Amino acid sequence: MAATPLQKKFNIEDSTEAFYAYMCAAGGGAANEQALKVLCDFSPELYDWCVGCGMDFEGGDLYPGAHINSFNKTGYTLFYTGNEQARAYARVTPPVPRGHSSLPSSSGKDIFDALAATVDSLGVQVMTGTPGKRLVQDERGRVVGIIAGAKGDVAIRARKAVILTAGGFGNNEKMMAEHYVYPNPRGAGIISAGNDNGTGILMGQSAGAATFGMGSFQLGRPLSTMGDALARGLIMGESGRRLVAEDEYNTFVGKAVGLALTERCFAVYDEAARTEGAPENFLGDPVATCGSLAEVAEAIGADADAVASTFAFYNESASLGEDREFGKDPRFMIPFEEGPFSVYACGSESCMVGSLGGLKIDVDAHVLDLSDEIIPGLYAAGRNAGSIFGWYMGSGASVADVLTFGIIAGRNASQEGAEA
Ligand SMILES: Cc1cc2nc3c(=O)[nH]c(=O)nc-3n(C[C@H](O)[C@H](O)[C@H](O)COP(=O)(O)OP(=O)(O)OC[C@H]3O[C@@H](n4cnc5c(N)ncnc54)[C@H](O)[C@@H]3O)c2cc1C
Repeated sequence: MAATPLQKKFNIEDSTEAFYAYMCAAGGGAANEQALKVLCDFSPELYDWCVGCGMDFEGGDLYPGAHINSFNKTGYTLFYTGNEQARAYARVTPPVPRGHSSLPSSSGKDIFDALAATVDSLGVQVMTGTPGKRLVQDERGRVVGIIAGAKGDVAIRARKAVILTAGGFGNNEKMMAEHYVYPNPRGAGIISAGNDNGTGILMGQSAGAATFGMGSFQLGRPLSTMGDALARGLIMGESGRRLVAEDEYNTFVGKAVGLALTERCFAVYDEAARTEGAPENFLGDPVATCGSLAEVAEAIGADADAVASTFAFYNESASLGEDREFGKDPRFMIPFEEGPFSVYACGSESCMVGSLGGLKIDVDAHVLDLSDEIIPGLYAAGRNAGSIFGWYMGSGASVADVLTFGIIAGRNASQEGAEA
């Protein structure tokens, strides 16, 4: 969120325009920019709405000295959440912390506890164990209800409209096989609690909906940048070429290894960086420990001259105090010492994968058909709505779009005319 009272409390200058500029850059040109603009502009209102639900931001502190990502630190409520401080993004707009966590634990649990209490207090009827199966449309195409039920069918008539919020499609192997676009191998881990079966998206498509951003995925955690010293490694492919600024947020590193022109990718540490960063906590045991760069090349199957020149250029950049290739923070540009060098596999096969695409919505959260016309009586939000952020998913970003477009959908649905 941007331009919030919590940021003001810590004298942080921010604006919804700067938030939008950062998010557009981070989305890699693939965001739903109109919806993203609404999300950014909605920030101050979302903050008040969250506080109204019982979330406590202002009792916490600004997390100190965070480089890239430092979420879920108990007692702190304002954080950097992604790549704000990485050079390419800091050039777009001055980096400021925009991740808001609620007390007491500073984790998502407090957010959802507050939402659940609000649902209870409003007397909302929640039907668990009743999965939606298909939408019901009248003769004019208006969505007027839904057929649901784990065993047998329950027909539920919509007095106003239907809002689809049934999550992504990471657990639907058929949809994943159809839409996953990264050329390099997909990891087995899915970023999901287990029910991202794509049913909401499929239901919308059956009612004539278009999709947006189905090829957008986040690849997380080949290397966590949450520990600064980890960023002192060098990530390279079998070509022997370096691939990314190693201090970028983990989904940006994931994107780089997913798109790399070589399948297998590796993170190399010298002994000082390995001791300080403990990469084995994130990447498992090293695939090789090498006494020289020639041995590193042999271990990763790369040309020895290519590896030698990659390290020579990197070391020269480090001594100049500037990453001339990818713009890694100079703090992490430390020349590689003599061996031993520890080599860890960190290709896309080690990434967790999350789907980001879904139904195409407009700025009012209406679901659109293939002609960009509103499907009357149908709204979507969260992972059921297609990739508001493009390829980006910083920590907490999804909470922002789930809530923003959930609220917008709810408000608009409540204004719909009487029963169809
Ligand atoms: C381990 C983990 C860590 C994460 N960390 C972060 C993070 O740090 N920051 C961040 O922003 N995001 C994070 N995410 C992602 C975030 O949780 C999701 O993007 C977000 O929950 C999506 O919200 P949603 O409401 O669209 O879907 P969900 O939260 O998945 O909710 C969808 C609900 O719909 C239900 N459902 C499914 N099918 C049907 C059906 N047919 N009928 C009725 N109900 C159905 C599901 O059971 C589920 O309860 C993380 C996810 C995981 C799994």
